[in-house]
Amino acid sequence: MPPQPEALVIGAGPAGLMAAEELAKAGIQTLVLEAKPTVARKFLMAGKSGLNVTKDEDWELFVSRYDAPQLLHILKEFGPQEVQDWCRALGQDVYTGSSGRVFPVAMKASPLLRAWLNRLTAQGVELRTRWRWTGFDGDALTFETPTGPQTLTPRLTILALGGASWSRLGSDGAWVPWLRAKGVQITNWKPANMGFRVDWSPHMTPYFGQPVKGVALIAGPHRERGEFIISTKGLEGGGIYSIYKYLRDAYTLTLDLLPDLTQEEIARRLARMKPGDSTTNRLRKLGLDRTQIALVMEFSRTEPFAQLKHLYIPLKGPRPLDEAISVAGGIAWDALTPDLELKALPNTFACGEMLDWEAPTGGYLLTACWATGRRAGQAAARRIRL
Ligand SMILES: Cc1cc2nc3c(=O)[nH]c(=O)nc-3n(C[C@H](O)[C@H](O)[C@H](O)COP(=O)(O)OP(=O)(O)OC[C@H]3O[C@@H](n4cnc5c(N)ncnc54)[C@H](O)[C@@H]3O)c2cc1C
Repeated sequence: MPPQPEALVIGAGPAGLMAAEELAKAGIQTLVLEAKPTVARKFLMAGKSGLNVTKDEDWELFVSRYDAPQLLHILKEFGPQEVQDWCRALGQDVYTGSSGRVFPVAMKASPLLRAWLNRLTAQGVELRTRWRWTGFDGDALTFETPTGPQTLTPRLTILALGGASWSRLGSDGAWVPWLRAKGVQITNWKPANMGFRVDWSPHMTPYFGQPVKGVALIAGPHRERGEFIISTKGLEGGGIYSIYKYLRDAYTLTLDLLPDLTQEEIARRLARMKPGDSTTNRLRKLGLDRTQIALVMEFSRTEPFAQLKHLYIPLKGPRPLDEAISVAGGIAWDALTPDLELKALPNTFACGEMLDWEAPTGGYLLTACWATGRRAGQAAARRIRL
């Protein structure tokens, strides 16, 4: 590889690797530079609790989960079916769970990543780690590398640096001021798919780490069945992430602890109980487990039966940006062409979580990172071949 590659991809996460694959498929000499000592750390972390690669559901419903209409034509070319085919082509069979979530049979990200890196190497992609992009020197790109500072002026660059959460895995958002200085419009970050803070009393300590299952979470007009975890600092987990958007601006969460019973049915059942039954016993007989009872006693001790269908949980705001599973904000769509080229920086493309879109967890995030990486890689390849 000559010092100045034909195409340079910065950031070796799912989006950058997909862009590199498209460039290599077009026969273009491609160099991928990654700041960390190893690649795709967030992707590997995503696989720790079951790698959810996409969501197999009605198309209209699928695209409605994204807040950016600009993604529609990109996802049409690489959506849930294409993600599954792509995993299978890498020798990683996938299955669809009952909720429509699609997972590799191996559940983890590492076998998929290993197979993918082998294929990229066979396609001629060169990958260098510990190369941190540090900004611009005029039109050139500057890097910190194991052998000291380096400057590159590739014919074409694809930026795939991720968002601004879980910075220890690589995506620290340090690039925002460098691109802003070049006239690229960037929307401020907000956490997405994040937990919320709750000031617990000491009485809740035994319940930290416990799941709350089978409840309905209510945020404004939005109601969703789900489960979540009580953590030392608040609430987190799938049920919370599914309504994070509604909670982010107005932190009002109420829980329906008995979503299958009407208020009248609850009153009838309570009336049938023995007069000497303790409060805890009555709550248990209604079907609440010990963690749910602890929540009732935490927030509705004086009237434990009054709020079973709308227990108000006083949230103190979202957990910090760096702890969020993903982020909203990033490079504004107005700053991009439909092919994801930066209007202010011709021959520079961007993809993945660094673009301004958000979606819930459930496979939507990776699908859009791969789809935008693919779009940017293909468009860049066409540009070079012009
Ligand atoms: C705990 C957790 C679980 C998740 N689970 C799922 C899931 O099951 N399904 C799902 O769809 N999504 C999941 N996600 C989200 C998903 O992992 C991300 O959306 C995805 O990894 C983003 O891909 P990306 O390529 O845009 O960015 P990243 O994966 O963040 O990759 C960006 C890369 O750029 C590198 N980089 C950054 N700055 C520089 C620089 N200056 N110079 C050089 N390199 C740089 C970084 O080190 C990194 O390797 C999860 C996220 C987390 C944190």
